[in-house]
Amino acid sequence: MSRAPKQSEYHPMQQFLAAFPAVSGNTVNGLGETDVRRPSPFFWHPPDKQTHGRLQAEVINYHRQSAAMREHFDSNPPGGRGPAPVERAAVRIDKPAARWSEELKAFALANEGDDVRITTMKPLYVYEGYALADPWVVLIAVAMDYDELSQAPASFENPTAGVVVAKEYNRASRVSRRLANHILAQGHHAKAWPGPYASALSMMPAAIDAGVGQLGKHGSLIHKALGSSFRLSAVTTDMPLVSDTSEDFGSEDFCLNCQICTRACPPGAIRNDKQLVRGVEKWYVDFDKCIPYFGETLGCGICLAVCPWSRPGTAASLAEKMLRRRERIG
Ligand code: SF4
Ligand code: SF4
Repeated sequence: MSRAPKQSEYHPMQQFLAAFPAVSGNTVNGLGETDVRRPSPFFWHPPDKQTHGRLQAEVINYHRQSAAMREHFDSNPPGGRGPAPVERAAVRIDKPAARWSEELKAFALANEGDDVRITTMKPLYVYEGYALADPWVVLIAVAMDYDELSQAPASFENPTAGVVVAKEYNRASRVSRRLANHILAQGHHAKAWPGPYASALSMMPAAIDAGVGQLGKHGSLIHKALGSSFRLSAVTTDMPLVSDTSEDFGSEDFCLNCQICTRACPPGAIRNDKQLVRGVEKWYVDFDKCIPYFGETLGCGICLAVCPWSRPGTAASLAEKMLRRRERIG
């Protein structure tokens, strides 16, 4: 991470600043709002359905100047992005919800997934202006190679940390599309949400409720085994399933006393204190500060790489330590 500028020395690139709309991304995200509401469509949405479409296009075009990034963005990347949707089978197979849940998890794990969790659909998982009828959300986590991620920030000369993100989003896409087709073949409705391009579904709150991880100060999830070195995709379905539950394994306590990501973030985008966002107090990353640096470094990822939970083999022992500490202090 030697190429990252110090916070005092960082100046955003003019081409990204010029693409910002008049409204702040933090306002769109609901920073400071006291009422709970659904999220507004934002980055990784169709450009005409959000306020920051021009900025998003500028970031994507910049990333596409890297041949290595293009290879993974293009229509036929290494490994592909998974199959097209199949027709739902005419005959619907019925099994107990617990059995379907086990089978879906086993299928996803056998098809490149690294962790699979289930939760019930809630209105707050759906962006404003969209509707989703499926009652279940299946979340899939795929790990990123830590050594590759740790080369963040990426550049045109060394795009490794950007490429690992694109590569793993393609894997997440393959798992979600195969799983959706597997469900459709049993006669149930299913739709894959490959990420990072969102439309209706906001995956992060669903992933927290399903127990994939806890929100970290860096605004991303911390997984009990993978730390923050992973990506998400999802499948929504009407197949009857059993919900997993959220899990408090102590990362929240750790974040309260840690400032590694806040100090490492070159534009100083990571707030050290929780903020009120759409009626909920939570860790928050200043979008307007993060995104120019995210743009010029092919997706940045410094905060994910420096997080102690991301170091291979560390998360499980940190969780144990934090829970023991909590028992000790009561
Ligand atoms: S680096 Fe520290 S403060 Fe930031 S998310 Fe990780 S544990 Fe939390
Ligand atoms: S991704 Fe954004 S928040 Fe994280 S270190 Fe980079 S600029 Fe900061």
